[in-house]
Amino acid sequence: MADIELRNLTKRYGALTAVDSVDLDVEAGEVMCLLGPSGCGKTTTLRMIGGLEWANEGDIFISGKRVNNLKPAQRNIAMVFQFYALYPSLTVADNLAFPLHAENVDKAEIDRRVQHIANILELDHALGRIPGRLSEGEKQRVAVGRAIIRNPQCFLFDEPLSRLDIALRQEMRGQIKMLLSDLNKASVIVTHDQIEALTIGDRIAVMNDGLIEQVAIPHDIFASPANIFVAGFIGTPQMNLIAGRNVKPNSGDEGGVELQLCRQDVILPVELAASYNADITVGVRPRSFDLASESAADTISGMIDLIEPMGAETLLHLTTEGEELRVVTDHRAAPPLGAQIHVRPRAGQIHLFDERGMRIQI
Ligand code: ATP
Repeated sequence: MADIELRNLTKRYGALTAVDSVDLDVEAGEVMCLLGPSGCGKTTTLRMIGGLEWANEGDIFISGKRVNNLKPAQRNIAMVFQFYALYPSLTVADNLAFPLHAENVDKAEIDRRVQHIANILELDHALGRIPGRLSEGEKQRVAVGRAIIRNPQCFLFDEPLSRLDIALRQEMRGQIKMLLSDLNKASVIVTHDQIEALTIGDRIAVMNDGLIEQVAIPHDIFASPANIFVAGFIGTPQMNLIAGRNVKPNSGDEGGVELQLCRQDVILPVELAASYNADITVGVRPRSFDLASESAADTISGMIDLIEPMGAETLLHLTTEGEELRVVTDHRAAPPLGAQIHVRPRAGQIHLFDERGMRIQI
């Protein structure tokens, strides 16, 4: 039994279905990231788990108990929001202790738990300070500490790091990951930042238009996207998604499939069922091409019409007969603007999607 179970969870606002029949299990000790574009229903899902929104349909179970009709305080959940409100006139120690006062915990136990949390979150030095004298990262840690001090059943985080600058966000990502793995509770983190989801999440649920598109470990979300939406959403620069027409098995010795890509006849090193004859979408990440010295049966040709330096790498934009392709190369190997080049999609790194946009297993 998972610690958090969502079954057919649905939320409507008038005609809009914000969350559409969501099924999700989060195990004890697992960090589940809800990832997706703005408005896809992540926060609404989280708020329903926390009891801040009522579900129109479906069930929410926490440790096996249906909690749909329980108020937030009765669900034994800790929530950390993007806009954490600390009590400005209370010290860090008193901010941390606040939830325990409400539960009538005795003073000695409060002191023990405050000290324990301060140790874990490296806030010992700041216990006597008020929030106005803390850095943003310290304030964020106090907000997290205040949420976990009650020893709740599970944790819900809504964009917990989005207010921090990039350097601090990177540091806090590591700290939150370590903290959550020590606490061994089910956690759900809402984020629109894919790096955050890929680094913190044990699994990621990618949402789009109220639906869950895929739930998988970070590597599988990246390496085996279930459909075109996930393929295009995860990874920067974005995966090239190219229409492939007239698909048929290659009759030559080298095998693979023959098809039209960017209005060029190309042989791709993938094996498809011999009967496959519908149009497909070919997905190739910009880092999954090799530069070829000349045109060949397994290359695509194009002209470089834009170059974007990215430090050690360079992003080339190619105009081909029918498409724009993004190709990343080592900056030392980058050809000049206007050059006609030939790129070879790397075997084992090619994704195929059927007419409905679903992954074709190859
Ligand atoms: P973001 O990353 O921008 O916070 P999100 O994925 O968390 O987006 P939600 O906040 O869950 O998305 O919103 C899902 C949809 O429901 C959106 O279209 C939003 O406009 C709508 N919505 C959310 N709350 C309400 C509300 N109280 N009344 C009406 N519509 C709402």
